[in-house]
Amino acid sequence: ESSLLVIEMIHASKRAMGIEYAIRDVVLPARELEKQGIKIIKLNIGDPVKFDFQPPKHMKEAYCRAIMEGHNYYGESEGDIELRKAIVEREKKKNGVDITVDDVMVTAAVTEALQFVFGALVEPGDEVLIPGPSYPPYVALVKFYDGVPKAYLGIEEEGWQPDIDDMRKKISEKTKAIAVINPNNPTGALYDKKTLKEILDLAGEYDIPVISDEIYDLMTYEGKHVSPGSLTKDVPVIVMNGLSKVYFATGWRLGYMYFVDPEDKLAEVREAIGKLARVRLCPNTPAQKAAIAGLTGPMDYLEGYMKKLKERRDYIYKRLNEIPGLSAQKPEGAFYIFPRIEERSKWKSDKEFVLDVLRNAHILVVHGSGFGEGGEWHFRAVFLPPVEILEQAMDNLEKFMKERLS
Ligand code: PLP
Repeated sequence: ESSLLVIEMIHASKRAMGIEYAIRDVVLPARELEKQGIKIIKLNIGDPVKFDFQPPKHMKEAYCRAIMEGHNYYGESEGDIELRKAIVEREKKKNGVDITVDDVMVTAAVTEALQFVFGALVEPGDEVLIPGPSYPPYVALVKFYDGVPKAYLGIEEEGWQPDIDDMRKKISEKTKAIAVINPNNPTGALYDKKTLKEILDLAGEYDIPVISDEIYDLMTYEGKHVSPGSLTKDVPVIVMNGLSKVYFATGWRLGYMYFVDPEDKLAEVREAIGKLARVRLCPNTPAQKAAIAGLTGPMDYLEGYMKKLKERRDYIYKRLNEIPGLSAQKPEGAFYIFPRIEERSKWKSDKEFVLDVLRNAHILVVHGSGFGEGGEWHFRAVFLPPVEILEQAMDNLEKFMKERLS
């Protein structure tokens, strides 16, 4: 007699099981190669702190001091009042926005702000316009809340500026918000003022808010970042920012959002976000003290860091465009480059290309289709490592492409 015990599997929710995150998906095959003793050059994750960047000393000291001085309690759900004051001042200086501490909500970085915004806005079937290609959590989170992400494409030949005609085509009565990521991940695009005004006009026609992800705002090379929050007259803008990129504190998980809402159209949404904030209690208390130090303290560290990044950007941009079968637009912000795979006959897809590059050139980059519509037949590389490492990566890639195309 067989004693087969049938164990019934407990099912996870479909909404959670449906989540995809391409940036980390490519890590598994890379780990396999590393287990075999092969050294992989990792250009896949956008974390400057994994390279030669650190938060400035005054922020680190403030964090340690906050802990030692006893700031280890639950704080207010909306965030530390001193920090919210510092955010108001920083944003007035940067964007000239007319906001008060009541318009500001401190969050566990931009990622939590995105959860709050989509959680508070999206009903099943609602659509959210997002850039195509786009930072993957936008797709994942909109879907998680049973919404439908709709990509508006970037125009590659124009440095990936958003295509306003396409945005107009994709907008409908079901559209709940337009998300803008500027400077952009994965393309490195910096949107011009005219384009931002057109986006605001379109949002105004449909009476919907603009969500503005400004996490890379001071990380620009030639141009300067402009916030839709500084341009709006009546369209509500929800701005999101934080410590992860410009302040080089990715692991501290601290950010904020604020509302520029001249006609108070978002009153109910703000109430909903307040509710979401209260059920998660509060953001990290000592990290908020460090954030005050960061936002009110000297920014001179940034100049040196941007100089390093610009050198790396210039290097990778030049090298990629010299490699046969590839071409790349010059990133104007952030630390990503999004090259186009021109020669396509050798691979079935961009993912296959990326795996081939991983196995044979020992470089880990992310396939463009992982960034959604508009990303197909591209890949994303970070240019965070020093030039010597980028040089090795580009030498490997060049050799690989010459072999494949010969
Ligand atoms: N938004 C964009 C466009 C990003 O590229 C990233 C990280 O790469 C984030 C948000 C995540 O930010 P945070 O660390 O503040 O959650």
